Amino acid sequence: MNKKDIGEFAEKLNEMFPDAKTELYYTNEFQLLIAILMSAQTTDKQVNIVNRNFFRFLIEPKDWVEMDIDYIKEFINSISFFNNKAENIKKTSLILKEKYNSKIPRTIEELITLPWVWIKTAKVFLAVIDDAPYIWVDTHVHRVLNRLWFVKTKTPLETDKKISTGFTKNNHALLHNTLVLFGRYICTARNPKCETCPFSWKCNYYKKIQK
Ligand code: SF4
Repeated sequence: MNKKDIGEFAEKLNEMFPDAKTELYYTNEFQLLIAILMSAQTTDKQVNIVNRNFFRFLIEPKDWVEMDIDYIKEFINSISFFNNKAENIKKTSLILKEKYNSKIPRTIEELITLPWVWIKTAKVFLAVIDDAPYIWVDTHVHRVLNRLWFVKTKTPLETDKKISTGFTKNNHALLHNTLVLFGRYICTARNPKCETCPFSWKCNYYKKIQK
């Protein structure tokens, strides 16, 4: 596939995943940001297991600010890098409470001033909460776009840079929820479901593994 096929690819993914949305559990924008921060280097499934309990009493920034840090660490210790995450999310919560009146800023420039919030995190947050046209380039998305040869890159960061200039905003808007699900459930790292994949006839990776 080449770049001019991306629109067709995006439309097809929307047909395959018509109700696509993030799989992270949250009930408000603060919890969404926290869940995204917690999900770095951890599966959404593991984060959800923790947060379905944790979020019952962690509803706004002041809740995290007032909570004892050792208690937080103990509660989230099944999540990777839980020490760093607990401390940085506490700092972020304090800034949100004091500087932003407990609201979450809605620009990438403001979001990345918060501790532990990188450009990727900011884009994911804005894509989910405001339907902003940003694609969440995790390992799944990086793998899919390389297998289909939309990009030829070595890291998710490199892929993110390529698509930010190579794809249109409309492509980003169409793909930001569906591409993660396609990578997570169809074009998996091991044993991708090529036999049922609608893109196999155009997929260079598939052609390669057939030989
Ligand atoms: S054919 Fe296989 S490798 Fe290619 S995009 Fe589909 S699932 Fe992924």
